[in-house]
Amino acid sequence: MSQFLKNQDPDIYAIIEDELERQTDHLEMIASENFTSPAVMEAMGSVFTNKYAEGYPNKRYYGGCENADRIEQLAVDRACELFGCKFANVQPHSGSQANQGVYQALLKPYDKILGMDLSHGGHLTHGSKVSSSGKTYSSFFYGVEMDGRIDYDRVLDIAKIVEPKLIVCGASAYAREIDFAKFREIADEVGAILFADIAHIAGLVAAGEHPSPFPHCDVVSTTTHKTLRGPRGGMIMTNDEDIAKKINSAIFPGIQGGPLVHVIAAKAVGFGENLKPEWKTYAKQVKANAKVIADVLMKRGYKIVSDGTDNHLVLVSFLDKDFSGKDADAALGNAGITVNKNTVPGETRSPFVTSGIRIGSAALTARGMKEKEFEIISNKIADVLDNIEDSALHAKIKEEMHALAREFVIYHQPTY
Ligand SMILES: *Cc1c(COP(=O)(O)O)cnc(C)c1O
Repeated sequence: MSQFLKNQDPDIYAIIEDELERQTDHLEMIASENFTSPAVMEAMGSVFTNKYAEGYPNKRYYGGCENADRIEQLAVDRACELFGCKFANVQPHSGSQANQGVYQALLKPYDKILGMDLSHGGHLTHGSKVSSSGKTYSSFFYGVEMDGRIDYDRVLDIAKIVEPKLIVCGASAYAREIDFAKFREIADEVGAILFADIAHIAGLVAAGEHPSPFPHCDVVSTTTHKTLRGPRGGMIMTNDEDIAKKINSAIFPGIQGGPLVHVIAAKAVGFGENLKPEWKTYAKQVKANAKVIADVLMKRGYKIVSDGTDNHLVLVSFLDKDFSGKDADAALGNAGITVNKNTVPGETRSPFVTSGIRIGSAALTARGMKEKEFEIISNKIADVLDNIEDSALHAKIKEEMHALAREFVIYHQPTY
């Protein structure tokens, strides 16, 4: 890191160093996290943080935007090339704000939306009552069946009863492919707008390792920091010019002020990485590694929701166990493995306790780990779960996991 911060503000510098050490030592298996490249971080730390650029390229409310225009246009062009769409808005500050922008563009307050239930793997912004999406719009939900999968006939039945203005597809904790074509049929049958939120799977979609929401969906949002591995932020895409115009006005001036041009620069750098042939290799490895987690844990007697995975994440169910997701999360944390507790289909415990954990492969794959390491780690996860109260064992595994992690340096060498 630069000497400026170290000299001027040693307190903050020291905490950042501690965080780098934490990220280096721990095995990061939270499915929504990843490691960006040094190039992405350099762009994020650039002088563009100084620039106000309200508006869009060549239509700004401030002077001196000629370089901001070039940056944003490049980010948009690369995003469109990457996802095969005509229009992209790269200004949303986060995935949640991208979604808020979509709703604001296409709906009126109290319009009906139909999304995936949070406790079944959906996201807060898909109509949850604690989110503005559930306070502003009349929200209804579909979920997964006891086998952990979406039953598209059931979704159609619910859609026919609800008659939503907009259907949201996409999830935060769903291990199976999402069938966008099926959702299109459902949306067409009830005359709804189809909105896909690919925040979790975008990196796989970009690599052709998950079916694309285009051409099926009217509008698509994503985060740029999950499997896509760019800077923390959001994005909205569409092929429809009318929708694109509405989205642009909804983001600015609708819900945001000046765009974060330094983050947009970093998004463009990230998209540049996503467009390289190596990206496909990474995405394939992410899926192969997640499959190892599911296979090993099933072999060790653990119940995996939907009995496997098609993507970067695995949901483990402890409905048949006398410990909770919270217990497992804490025990694995003590063993140097970071995951998160998660509700599972048929949940019997509260959302703060839960009966499952979500495990992701994207971040460790970015560090260069392959099947061999995932097999070792997955067996250690099973060892911890088999001995959930053995804190001495957890401490011993933690040392082993830290040693393994340190072999895969994050920020001193390119990882692909
Ligand atoms: C993570 C996520 C979001 C929100 O992204 P933030 O950047 O955290 O606001 C939205 N939708 C889905 C499906 C997500 O997984």
